[in-house]
Amino acid sequence: MSADTAVKTIYILLYVIAAATRAPYARAARSLPVRAHRRRFADTLLLIPVSLGLMILPLVEVFSSWLNPYEMGLPMWARALGLIGFAGAVATHGWTHKELAANWSPVLEIREGHCLVKTGPYRLVRHPMYAGFLLWACSQGFALSNWLVLLAGVASFALMYMARVRHEEALLEEAFGAEYRSYMGRTGRLFPARRKST
Ligand code: SAH
Repeated sequence: MSADTAVKTIYILLYVIAAATRAPYARAARSLPVRAHRRRFADTLLLIPVSLGLMILPLVEVFSSWLNPYEMGLPMWARALGLIGFAGAVATHGWTHKELAANWSPVLEIREGHCLVKTGPYRLVRHPMYAGFLLWACSQGFALSNWLVLLAGVASFALMYMARVRHEEALLEEAFGAEYRSYMGRTGRLFPARRKST
């Protein structure tokens, strides 16, 4: 097996682990009644380019030679580092799903019995799952050593982030009021907030 095939095999294994982790939460999310939502047509439409750039294009790179013209030519150690980053992204993906549990949904919703999660990574940042997607986008570009995969992934992340975060925070503020405002005051969006000096 060549080193390139080994990297791609590990990448696909991690990718399958991420998909398998998400599946039971997606099933659970469908079974709870929705109390409030910010489901706009633009958001649903946005899922198409976002999943193409972040999830589908890397598979095209792995299973075809169509994206070979965008090969970065990275040395194997750099690709291995990319793979380690991708494993971190998959772990973050699993951890955030576990912490959100029944409060997770793929679209912006408040479900019956929804509570504000402030544990695990949510203790420090409000959007650790999206932070994980940023790591996902960057690391898979390096692991697969492909410019187009890297740029499409980062652009997809940026599109999702700009379109969703404001609406998601407005929805949570509406649902949890002062509790969410105080939570916002001590957390950062993607990275922990700097402590205010007293
Ligand atoms: N933005 C978060 C979660 C993404 S999943 C992250 O990046 O980790 C999107 C769903 O999670 C939305 O329907 C929203 O209502 C819910 N959600 C986001 N943050 C939450 C929190 N701290 N507690 C409970 N639900 C949350």
